[in-house]
Amino acid sequence: MQIEPQAFDRVLSSMCTEPHPVARDAAERFLATNPGDPGTYPSVSALEEDAIAMLGTIAGLEDPAGYIASGGTEANIQAVRIARNRAETRTPNVVMPESAHFSFQKAADILGVELRIVPTDDRHRADLEAVRASVDGSTALVGGVAGTTEYGRVDPIPELGEIARSVDAMLHVDAAWGGFVLPFTDYEWNFEHAPVDTMAIDPHKMGQAAVPAGGLLARSGELLDELAVDTPYLESTSQATLTGTRSGAGVASAVAAMEELWPEGYRRQYVRSQNNAEWLADALEKRGYEVVDPTLPLVAADVPRSTFDALRAKGWRISRTATGELRIVCMPHVTREMLASFIGDLDRLEVRASVPVASDD
Ligand SMILES: *Cc1c(COP(=O)(O)O)cnc(C)c1O
Repeated sequence: MQIEPQAFDRVLSSMCTEPHPVARDAAERFLATNPGDPGTYPSVSALEEDAIAMLGTIAGLEDPAGYIASGGTEANIQAVRIARNRAETRTPNVVMPESAHFSFQKAADILGVELRIVPTDDRHRADLEAVRASVDGSTALVGGVAGTTEYGRVDPIPELGEIARSVDAMLHVDAAWGGFVLPFTDYEWNFEHAPVDTMAIDPHKMGQAAVPAGGLLARSGELLDELAVDTPYLESTSQATLTGTRSGAGVASAVAAMEELWPEGYRRQYVRSQNNAEWLADALEKRGYEVVDPTLPLVAADVPRSTFDALRAKGWRISRTATGELRIVCMPHVTREMLASFIGDLDRLEVRASVPVASDD
């Protein structure tokens, strides 16, 4: 095989990043392990317990239940599954803001629950009045996002918790991306701040672990037990995960990254990423673009489609929001030099675009 993976020097919109060197090393050492079979692979199984304990510390939960999943998608599907299994009605619904990740569409489809999508307010956060109007006695789960995929917004999690409790529903927080930056902000997003039942929090995004390393956390083992099925041919007696064979590389790299970086390394990275986001937002604003204020290290700006396409043609790996804004995620591999070079390309394009076309009359 001769093909090489892409370089990261022009990747501006991914939520994944280069794994930390210690995470890369741990992933390689544990490549041939399967935490799905703890009787055969006990050391990676023990590491998974460490990973969950550390994720609990990061998310304000002292005695967490959970496991290292393939990603935020699996964690979200499993959270909906727990809620569905606990619901007393046979036609449960799940209430989420429109900023929710598309993985909830998959969850609703697979699990046969009704997904009620409510609008966000002018700050791109769940509209609480709309959530209140959507819940009812059949609501199994109310979901909030702590760090939305498009604008990096944090929903009002404590208020969503109150609404969930008022109808006896569970509260799920999707912190797949935000979970490793939010501890260094004033946001109320975690198990200490609100009656959160389950959470998605991904080491393979801001956590700098190797892919695949997602995290599902549950407030109690009892919640996780909703997922357990018997496992006849394994030494362990039951399994709560969605997949069977799983990546020991993901588990080991998550532990290595968290041991290395929690909390000071992650704090420094958050500050660096946030400063970069603010620098970029400022640079775009100065050039006359409308910018969505980066409350977390993610910048969205109203850049014309033709400019966006020209930047992609120059090799920049950028993406757009559902409404068409340029979206840049200031992940750990994104440096100020990269952003300056990006803005340089943007300036050259705009100069060319504003050169008057010679008329031929
Ligand atoms: C990335 C993301 C997901 C999906 O996670 P995967 O690891 O890609 O499966 C879910 N929710 C949010 C908020 C995300 O940013």
